[in-house]
Amino acid sequence: MSREPEPPSGATEVGVPASSRVVEIEDLAFGYGEAKQPALDGLTLSIEHGEFACVLGPSGCGKSTLLGILSGLYAPQRGRVAVDGTLVYEGGRRMAREAPPMGYVFQDPRLLPWRRVRQNVELALRAAGVPQAEWERRVSRYLDMCGIGPFAESWPGNLSGGQRQRVAIARALAIEPTLVLMDEPFSTLDEVTARFLRRELLDVWERTGQTIIFVTHSIREAVFLADHVYVMTAGPGKLLERRTIEIPRPRVYEDPRLTEIEAGMVEWVLRHWGFYENAEREEGG
Ligand code: ADP
Repeated sequence: MSREPEPPSGATEVGVPASSRVVEIEDLAFGYGEAKQPALDGLTLSIEHGEFACVLGPSGCGKSTLLGILSGLYAPQRGRVAVDGTLVYEGGRRMAREAPPMGYVFQDPRLLPWRRVRQNVELALRAAGVPQAEWERRVSRYLDMCGIGPFAESWPGNLSGGQRQRVAIARALAIEPTLVLMDEPFSTLDEVTARFLRRELLDVWERTGQTIIFVTHSIREAVFLADHVYVMTAGPGKLLERRTIEIPRPRVYEDPRLTEIEAGMVEWVLRHWGFYENAEREEGG
């Protein structure tokens, strides 16, 4: 379906259609109120249509803040953000009244407990302005795709943590957004469930072709999932490096080639994230 939004008046169209980029971020800076140092400072990156992008960084490096800016929750103090050809922010000013539609998946599935699974997805469809005539098809398609179709009439409270997270993923995909933003969606699940869901997420992503920006602090998870891993500095956050993961798909979590990439990255990020300096400082008292 065509999801190119009508540019609102005052919005500037960026000349990107010839390019395959869906997100372009340049020199982004953002600080919270009285905080001593900015959460993000000088972040530049771009993400292609249909990409599985993992943003990797230590806790507090500004990963969630980045998603908050992309979703329109926070306005940056500096920098330029364009999504799907719409210039959303430039020089600390909001340029577009509405950002292109986005789906969200958080650590916590955030389902309404007093609504059945189906109704939880329908509420998202309503909020996204999807015509009601489309709801039934979308609900079954995405619940089935996420392996949760038989639970459409269940109450969230009767589902396991993994099942609830599948509903959250189905709800995000069902609005068929320009971007799906995922903030450590598997970090509170047990490892076996998380591994299963990571594999399923890749299957679903390959079937939908949607662009996913997936935030994690797990190197293994990033290497397994991503086309490109965007490694952040320890904070204030900016891009340290964009690493391409060349391992062909479908991937296997236990693949020794992934272990090798992970091991190399662990050494490298420990140095760049300042862990050795901290350890020396602690040892030195
Ligand atoms: P990450 O997602 O990488 O863990 P965050 O984006 O949550 O990092 O946070 C980046 C920095 O901003 C951290 O130093 C954090 O303490 C700070 N921060 C996050 N949210 C707030 C807030 N609401 N108010 C003040 N500081 C915040």
